[in-house]
Amino acid sequence: MQICRTVSELRSTIDNLKLLGKKIGFVPTMGALHQGHMSLCKEAKMECDVVVVSIFVNPTQFNNPEDLAKYPRTETTDLHHLNAVSCDIVFLPAVEEMYPFPSSIVFSFGNIEQVLEGAFRPGHFSAVATVVSKLFHLVQPHLAYFGQKDLQQYLIIEQLVNQLSFPVILKCCPIVRAESGLALSSRNARIEASLLPDGYKIYQSLVLAKSLVQQGEKTAVVKSKIRQFYNPYSALELEYFEIVERDTLQSIEEIKDNNKIAICVAAYLGNVRLIDNILL
Ligand code: AMP
Repeated sequence: MQICRTVSELRSTIDNLKLLGKKIGFVPTMGALHQGHMSLCKEAKMECDVVVVSIFVNPTQFNNPEDLAKYPRTETTDLHHLNAVSCDIVFLPAVEEMYPFPSSIVFSFGNIEQVLEGAFRPGHFSAVATVVSKLFHLVQPHLAYFGQKDLQQYLIIEQLVNQLSFPVILKCCPIVRAESGLALSSRNARIEASLLPDGYKIYQSLVLAKSLVQQGEKTAVVKSKIRQFYNPYSALELEYFEIVERDTLQSIEEIKDNNKIAICVAAYLGNVRLIDNILL
């Protein structure tokens, strides 16, 4: 496994691979890797000749400086995990390497970024689109792998790719969960052990909402039942719980038979912010 820490090292490696006609699969991450990330790498390994994983905690996409400072950084174990799935190249740039000039580009994606995460994290998706654009230019992947865990991020990157004609095929991979149902996340490592059982309720609330929707309950009723469901769990503070159209993420007031639906949640468990979703 080759480790590139600079843009110039990565560029010459990619140039060689392109000359050899290799099909490049790319998995962008912020490190603190877990089995969710590994599932993306395994998928890439099956479909491509060469797998490139980036590990970069992108400072510009954090709204909360404390969240950035506390973001877990576990380089040694990350490299171990990547070796185990036969990753070929790891790009591990320092902040100055990615941003030799202060970033001043702003992306705007319309309604899809006004809702859910976008409503609570102003500027977040513009910063994500900027860093993903830079990474796509550097890695020049044929395929890029993202998780459904960050559904809104996936849809926004899909817009980015379509509107700027990036020659990249995007893959959206299923959410990997712990046995309890809790979606794996780098932030889970920060959850206090005593609070974990409350964390399991997040997925249970999604499963409950899904079954209520499937039974034909109106969205307003579902949302009110879900608020009641959360009441007993004092460590969990719901930020949003939305039933939305899967491709646009706009709220659905009245569900029709042909609606493709996503149910999305963000909640604080203690001081750790978690997101999850389920598709119907
Ligand atoms: P992150 O390191 O959190 O930026 O995530 C890097 C990629 O891994 C993103 O495309 C995420 O959506 C994806 N990912 C994170 N958690 C999971 C999970 N539990 N299952 C599948 N993919 C995930």
